[in-house]
Amino acid sequence: MTRILAVANQKGGVGKTTTSVNLAAGLAQSGMRVLLVDLDPQGNATMGSGIDKRTLRTSIYQVLLGLATADSARQKSESGGYDLIPANRDLAGAEIELVDLEHRETRLKGALESVAGQYEFILLDCPPALNILTLNGLVAANAVMIPMQCEYYALEGLSDLVNTIKRIRQHLNPKLDIEGLLRTMYDPRNALAQQVSAQLKEHFGKKVYETVIPRNVRLAEAPSFGAPAVSLDRECKGSQAYVALAGEILSRNGITAAA
Ligand code: ATP
Ligand code: MG
Repeated sequence: MTRILAVANQKGGVGKTTTSVNLAAGLAQSGMRVLLVDLDPQGNATMGSGIDKRTLRTSIYQVLLGLATADSARQKSESGGYDLIPANRDLAGAEIELVDLEHRETRLKGALESVAGQYEFILLDCPPALNILTLNGLVAANAVMIPMQCEYYALEGLSDLVNTIKRIRQHLNPKLDIEGLLRTMYDPRNALAQQVSAQLKEHFGKKVYETVIPRNVRLAEAPSFGAPAVSLDRECKGSQAYVALAGEILSRNGITAAA
């Protein structure tokens, strides 16, 4: 069965893309067939997977507008070990162009149907906004993974996202679940981080992943090599955390890893 996870948080810079590429690579290293979809005009997941966003012939933009199939738009990320539907700044125009199209919130869902069966996991790297692109991600997904930094305003932003998820459940995707909340760039010595982390657990209980992603410079450097850190240096602290996250997700979903 295919599990489609939207990696979403409308707050910018919380680690959505870092999580998307490293989790995709971690799951692939466990023998899973993985498709990563870049839903952000910034194209960071595309570049971080070793695919040049400036020279794309087909991207998620054409797929959402019905001008290309998911099958024809996907490419292999050699460095990551997964497939990728890339994005670039063309996608920024999609929001306006989609307005006039029918079923504008369900276009990604429809487009993925033909390829979904070929993967155990499809990850959707959403942009930092609750816009039509993120909406397409949330409608196509089985569940949402929410990366967040344990900072003062983190919980406030979270309620907007949780309310959006509730609205989508009412209208467009009744089964949309919260897969989990992921603490990123975590510093256990920081008292505020500990406090926010405790509040998170109080509100969301077991939905908070046990795995915590530490601040690690290798994770930040990896995109400049066009590869997930998990592929470049599996031993660094950041990679180990993402490999552990992949394991936690596999066991939550009742899947035994092949490798
Ligand atoms: P956006 O909202 O712009 O899409 P994002 O939520 O996808 O951002 P990332 O791009 O993954 O966030 O991360 C933001 C910045 O923080 C990047 O420069 C990234 O390399 C860095 N970063 C992410 N996670 C870590 C980490 N655990 N340790 C150190 N640096 C990190
Ligand atoms: Mg991003």
